[in-house]
Amino acid sequence: MDNPAARLNKIIQDRLCIGCGLCASFAGDDAIGFGLNDDGDLVPFARDGLTDAVMDQVDQICPSMRVEGLPQHLIDDSPHHDLVWGPHHGLKTGHAGDAMIRHIGSTAGVLTALGCFLLASGEVDFIAHVKVADDPPHHGMATISTTQDEVIAAAGSRYGPTAPLRHIMALLDRGQPFALIAKPCDLNAVRNLAHLDERVDRLIKYWLTPVCGGFTPDEGYQQFLDRHHIPKEDVKALRYRGYGCPGPTQLTMASGETKDIHYLDFWGDDESHWVLPLRCKICPDGIGEGADLAASDTWDGGSPDRVESETDLGLNHMIIRTKAGMELVENAVKAGYLTITTDATIDDLNRTQPHQVKKKYAGLARAHGLAEAGSFAPQLVNIRAEALTDAAGEDAYEREKQGSKKRALALKNN
Ligand SMILES: Cc1cc2nc3c(=O)[nH]c(=O)nc-3n(C[C@H](O)[C@H](O)[C@H](O)COP(=O)(O)OP(=O)(O)OC[C@H]3O[C@@H](n4cnc5c(N)ncnc54)[C@H](O)[C@@H]3O)c2cc1C
Repeated sequence: MDNPAARLNKIIQDRLCIGCGLCASFAGDDAIGFGLNDDGDLVPFARDGLTDAVMDQVDQICPSMRVEGLPQHLIDDSPHHDLVWGPHHGLKTGHAGDAMIRHIGSTAGVLTALGCFLLASGEVDFIAHVKVADDPPHHGMATISTTQDEVIAAAGSRYGPTAPLRHIMALLDRGQPFALIAKPCDLNAVRNLAHLDERVDRLIKYWLTPVCGGFTPDEGYQQFLDRHHIPKEDVKALRYRGYGCPGPTQLTMASGETKDIHYLDFWGDDESHWVLPLRCKICPDGIGEGADLAASDTWDGGSPDRVESETDLGLNHMIIRTKAGMELVENAVKAGYLTITTDATIDDLNRTQPHQVKKKYAGLARAHGLAEAGSFAPQLVNIRAEALTDAAGEDAYEREKQGSKKRALALKNN
């Protein structure tokens, strides 16, 4: 068997590391460091203290080695089960009750509003989530918020490299109840951790997530800057979206000037500018299977309309997966933090998230493609991977498996 450093490196070389920071936090600085590599990716690196025993545990918690949704008892407790969208207690459409939070938020400020409500109600002592990184400006960084002002200051999607779990063990060491807001894959990782550390289920009172189509690695950010003839070193601050729905991608330059660029000129009208890490392309859970509540955009087809987006106040869809999530929504509505406009339907989700639907059917086939290419491949737990594969049919399975195998091999030879 490879030595522990080689085992850790293989996850990165196979392009499966999402840079969440969990392994470094779990193993400690003597065993695993964490930082930027030459490609501008946030990754862990082995130190002398990394042993095979620690690496065995890392394999159990890494979200690229194992993807777990809700614990079985919460799945069993759910009144509704959809093959694609999973267990849920309800689907809602709505927005932050406060007009300012709705405006500043990425879509309609639902996650920020729920974070504010949880602090105001005293149900949690802090919110673990992310905010704009100090440096470089296109990255995000892990943070905790203990006041509503701090939650609001961290609103908005950070599409660049971000390590939400970099300090998760230190947060558990505090012994205080908290809510975690992080991407679906980060939640998968912490659901894995719950099997090794009983504090996870005891202290994390609420699990909230944005539905996620993947993050933008440095390569994608550089291509965006090149398309707009912007020198990287001139960018001092970057807001990807928010202040409207989706609001402008706003760059603050060294001169103090701000440049507003349309969201569609960041992502492309037809996903043409999407540059995603391999791990995001094969992601079996972009829909927050491990969350109490997942919040998403609500644009038909998955992208905003250029004209309508100028005046869109924003609406979120909410997939409320657990009883705790449902009670949270009801209480936040009563307290005025959240406004529900209508119930949502599975059709609404299918219509507004076509890329997520496609990915769900392909999850297991893509994982098998990685394995055939000699890469690590995630084990898929409690996310209906086999049933989705069966429903997609043999032709789709073969096509998706070959596609991901080809991608993985091409990256290995790069
Ligand atoms: C990388 C990425 C890809 C996404 N792809 C899709 C998609 O395909 N379809 C879709 O419908 N929606 C997608 N979203 C979600 C969407 O952008 C909104 O975040 C979501 O609708 C919630 O909106 P909100 O107004 O409630 O968020 P806000 O009220 O603005 O709150 C956002 C919260 O998420 C946290 N957060 C932001 N960025 C990150 C990050 N990188 N990692 C961990 N936590 C973060 C913030 O700390 C904040 O607490 C994506 C988000 C991200 C970060």
